[in-house]
Amino acid sequence: MPITPLMPVYPRCGVRPVRGEGSYLIGEQGERYLDFASGIAVNLLGHGHPHLTAKLQEQVATLMHVSNLYGSPQGEALAQRLVDHSFADTVFFTNSGAEAVECAIKTARRYHFANGQPERTTLITFKNAFHGRTLGTISATDQEKMRGGFEPLLPGFGYAPFNDLAAAEALIDDSTAGFLVEPIQGEGGIRPASPEFLQGLRRICDERGLLLVLDEVQCGVGRTGTLYAHEQYGVTPDIMATAKGIGGGFPLGACLATEEAAKGMVIGTHGSTYGGNPLAMAAGNAVLDVILEPGFLDQVKATGERLRGALEQMIPNHDALFEGVRGMGLMLGLKMKTDSRRFVAHLRDHHHVLTVAAGENVVRVLPPLNIEQAQIDEFVAKVSEAARLYVPPADE
Ligand code: PLP
Repeated sequence: MPITPLMPVYPRCGVRPVRGEGSYLIGEQGERYLDFASGIAVNLLGHGHPHLTAKLQEQVATLMHVSNLYGSPQGEALAQRLVDHSFADTVFFTNSGAEAVECAIKTARRYHFANGQPERTTLITFKNAFHGRTLGTISATDQEKMRGGFEPLLPGFGYAPFNDLAAAEALIDDSTAGFLVEPIQGEGGIRPASPEFLQGLRRICDERGLLLVLDEVQCGVGRTGTLYAHEQYGVTPDIMATAKGIGGGFPLGACLATEEAAKGMVIGTHGSTYGGNPLAMAAGNAVLDVILEPGFLDQVKATGERLRGALEQMIPNHDALFEGVRGMGLMLGLKMKTDSRRFVAHLRDHHHVLTVAAGENVVRVLPPLNIEQAQIDEFVAKVSEAARLYVPPADE
């Protein structure tokens, strides 16, 4: 008999949260954890935010779900706000990030199909990318650990090294539909695209009639201090997948596109039973109410700079363990000289601080966007204390 009836696909740790209060999670025995993981960049207003909670409670009692066979005043309202604040003209709502990426892939393929170039099906993606766990999105990453045993995968992807514009351009042929890229690789280790790289991809797309598809599932929705990370690169995509933070903890994703890029997505080409239901729309609208308040995103930038500065000040005291800080806004990565997964476990088990490990031995630091100085101080003090007491295992 398995220990739990849950399919054992996750290496679950001993933390068993039953309640959340702002930046803290509370376990079954009442133990408190400082949560700088935020459900992996999801709970961007922390836990139990009064406005988000009230709006969800109100909507649960009013109308939770209707089919997409009917008109959607709630969906139109949220889509209009997303359009008003982005490059996009049109929005498809999903329940997760992977589904938003799936919709982006389909939209890109249909664009070329509608243009009379159905052979243009291949999206060039990048090494160490992460786009989700559906068959389509694991096909879009070159990572063997996610693909092994799931073949045959979806054809139509090429893989170039991240931040290598020449290599990406060299892969283009008559079957190329465009590029699919995270402006900041999240799971891959908080690796920002270089401005030349992202701007270069945009230029190549414009020159060659290709589509730039951005995956902002992890880095979008205010996390980097602008509503979307691409704004800081001076680049706009044709299609973008967003999710995670957009629902503040409620499952919600969206595929945004320009009218031109979405021209193939006509009646009957796509759908989702739950996508865009009134409860999800209430969550998205409540999150936007908060993060679009004047000054909120500037505050995220300022908070990110303070947190980064404090971590950078701490590093010289523990330079055998840490190499540096990378990332943007409140999407930060502490690059380690040792196995970051073990340090994340140490921090969690002995100091009750939650972070997430990522590729390249990075500790992901993803606090709620509304954290205050007291939590920054507590976090840095605890990471410093944890580093002082940490003895890397002998087998490293
Ligand atoms: N894309 C990126 C960049 C992600 O970080 C993730 C999840 O971590 C996904 C897509 C998949 O999102 P979901 O797990 O909601 O399907």
